[in-house]
Amino acid sequence: MESMPHILDFDQWTHHHKDMMLISGPCSAESEEQLRATAQALVATGKLDVLRAGVWKPRTRPHAFEGHGEKALQWLSAIKKEMQIPVAVEVAQPKHIELALQYGIDMLWIGARTTVNPFSIQALADALEGTQTTVLVKNPTHPEIGLWIGALERFYAAGIRQLMAVHRGFHSYRPSAYRNMPLWEIPIELKRRFPKLPILVDPSHICGRRDTIAAVAQQAMDLGMDGLMIESHYQPHTALTDAKQQLTPKDLDTLISSLKIRRHQLDLDTDYLAQTRLQIDKLDNELIQLLAQRLKIVEDIGRYKQAHNIPVYQVDRWRHIIKNRLQEGKNQGVEEEFLLKLLQLIHKASIQRQTNL
Ligand code: PEP
Ligand code: MN
Repeated sequence: MESMPHILDFDQWTHHHKDMMLISGPCSAESEEQLRATAQALVATGKLDVLRAGVWKPRTRPHAFEGHGEKALQWLSAIKKEMQIPVAVEVAQPKHIELALQYGIDMLWIGARTTVNPFSIQALADALEGTQTTVLVKNPTHPEIGLWIGALERFYAAGIRQLMAVHRGFHSYRPSAYRNMPLWEIPIELKRRFPKLPILVDPSHICGRRDTIAAVAQQAMDLGMDGLMIESHYQPHTALTDAKQQLTPKDLDTLISSLKIRRHQLDLDTDYLAQTRLQIDKLDNELIQLLAQRLKIVEDIGRYKQAHNIPVYQVDRWRHIIKNRLQEGKNQGVEEEFLLKLLQLIHKASIQRQTNL
């Protein structure tokens, strides 16, 4: 897929914003009434491109609500016709695909727990072969970009061309303000490798709580992501799944209206951008030259250490470097977390130079 030639017919899906796709709807289809009331309110906002609802729910433990399955597909199919809105569900097994297609579901998404498993993905890709279905691939639960790309490639190899990625954050064992860490560098890298692949962001599953969804949605837009998938429910507090992270259609409407959506085409002050980018190019080259010089000196010291039987790694020296550089970083207004990571990378490369002499 490195040379993925396709361009998804994105405009087909984005009726309301030229540059942004909005998918919304409940985490789970709980009843026909819940689904219809939510869908009606969402459609009334005039901002909805696709209605989502989970009908098979991947629950962590058994005996929890696992979705209404085929019955819910009937509700979705009726609402689709009544309200003239495309609909999307999560599929995790070939049987789900068969049923979803039978009921005319327009878009299928692959959940994070499925993307981690190449056997499951291959089975789904095989089931889709020969269809022209639109498939959204959520990132795997843990931050491994290769698995995400691998899943996209399996669908691509099965002839699926209407592909999109959904960034829903990554599990972290550390306590965090997020339910799933955004780790924006991963979707940014995915976009670098596949510039034509649309990436939607799912702030609901990133945040796990209502009050931070707007900020993450804005971040997604600032980073040039192509759309949003946000969970909504006509009575969020009563939701059977993900109650804490669903918005009312009204709050979703307000949120979307308040977003600043940046234009994808840079036709503004191109002179200013070009000039400033030249400065950045120059600085980056200087940084690389400085790094090369530093590594060269490190190598000289390495030879000296080798000749005098001194260990490569000197903990006192390293502690001094960290303390001193972080202080300088603070003086210069460089973020400590970033600088520390950078210093660790440089230190690692230096040790490698000295041990590979
Ligand atoms: C969902 O969209 O409701 C869902 C289960 O998402 P994820 O696979 O991202 O956890
Ligand atoms: Mn959910």
